Order: sequence, then C-alpha cells, then structure tokens
Amino acid sequence: MTLPRFNRILLKLSGEVLMGQGQFGIDPATCDRVASEIAAAKEAGHELCLVVGGGNIFRGLAGAAKGFDRANADYMGMLATVMNALAVQNALERAGIETRVQSAIPMSSICEPYIRRRAVRHMEKGRIVIFAAGTGNPFFTTDTAAALRAAEMGCDALFKGTSVDGVYDADPKKVPDAKRYDTLSFNRVLADDLRVMDASAVALCRDNNIPIVVFNIRGEGALTSVLDGQGTATIVQN
Ligand code: UDP
Repeated sequence: MTLPRFNRILLKLSGEVLMGQGQFGIDPATCDRVASEIAAAKEAGHELCLVVGGGNIFRGLAGAAKGFDRANADYMGMLATVMNALAVQNALERAGIETRVQSAIPMSSICEPYIRRRAVRHMEKGRIVIFAAGTGNPFFTTDTAAALRAAEMGCDALFKGTSVDGVYDADPKKVPDAKRYDTLSFNRVLADDLRVMDASAVALCRDNNIPIVVFNIRGEGALTSVLDGQGTATIVQN
C-alpha cells in the first residue's frame, strides 16, 4: 500500500492502548513505548498532535448502564481522558519532547484550556499538543473529538492507533481467514457499518477530506513504518 506523505497528523490513542497487558488503568511502560513511537515519527519530520481516549478508566455508556445519569457519566469519562493525557505527557517529556496538554474543559491548575490558535502556535514551535476531555460535551466520544481537532488543526490525516493492523471484513481474532482491506471509502464504512470509528467521526472526516489510517500501534516502529508507506494499515478516504 502506498500512502501519500502526511506532514501533519493527528494520532488518536484509545485508552485501551495505554493499559498494556492489563485490564484497566495506565501502564507506565506502555506509555513509554507509545511515546517512543511518537518521538520517532517526530524525528522523521512529521508534526503530530494527539487525542487520548479514556476507556481504560471510565466510559460514559458503561456508567449509564450501571445506573449513573448519562451526561454525568460522560463527564466522568472526559475526566478520565485528562488523566491519560497527563500520563502520555509525562512519557513524552521523559523522551525529551516538549508537550502541552489542552483540555476542552478548562482546568487551569493542570493544563491549558483548548484554544485553537494557541494549539497551532505550539505545533509550529515543534511541541506536541495533547488534546484532553474530548469535545467537552457529553454524548460524544473521543473519536469525534479526534476528527474535530484534526479538522481544526489542518491535519493531513487522522491516524487511529489500535491493537489490530487495519480494518477487516470480520473479527480477525475470531475468524482466522478474515480479509484486511488496504483501502476503503468513507461511504462504504458508513453503509456497511464497519466500525472503524464512530459514524459521526467518519462523516466529519469525509466532509473535510481527512483520510483515516487504521494501524496497530503495539508493533515496534509501527507508526513510522506506516508513515513511510512500509507498514500494514487500512486507509479510509474519499
Ligand atoms: N466523552 C464524552 N464526550 C467527548 C469525549 C468523550 O462524553 O467528547 C466521554 C464518554 O463517556 C466516553 C469517555 O469520555 O465513553 C471516554 O472516551 P472514549 O470512550 O472515546 O475513549 P476510548 O474508547 O478512545 O478509550
């Protein structure tokens, strides 16, 4: 698969990526490994910003299923993303990278509020901006936040780091001969409900012509090799 050269990308890290082999929470060694992937991509000349999820700590829908008010539970989920953002910031700074966390819900003692122009400026100065608290609104997810921030920051692509190396026609963990797609159209993903990302995130990327690249971030050197066009991934585009 040949990918175009993407200069500025938004990397979406789901909370689950940060759990490592665990079932819950944040694994510092995994954060360090993810940070080294990001550092290598930056070293290779790409500009990056990040959106982190919170599913390793709290998901609004799961909370609502147990009886919490949905909007309240979603705010709890957004707070979980801030914890993850601080963990990723810490790991990136250990790797010698200058970062800023910006939260969609202002928390001035901990991080900056989200201010688009300031975020752009940070990126121009070579810093990695980590966007926390999703969109700041309940009933959304960090996938939609990733699509929104990718559009706002003028990113060339949205990279979704998962534990699978692309999009398959069936679950590759259950169906051994499941077929991986190299490319897919946004409309096919929506029509076939392929669950690459939330439908709202896919539609936002489609309308703003931002390709989504789905790849396995657990592999060593995965991000840089996909950025180089060497790795395995699925690209969703118009
Ligand atoms: N969330 C929200 N609005 C947003 C983004 C996230 O309410 O704009 C809440 C929602 O409850 C979600 C939780 O934060 O379940 C964690 O985010 P997400 O599930 O997207 O994390 P991921 O699956 O990527 O780890």
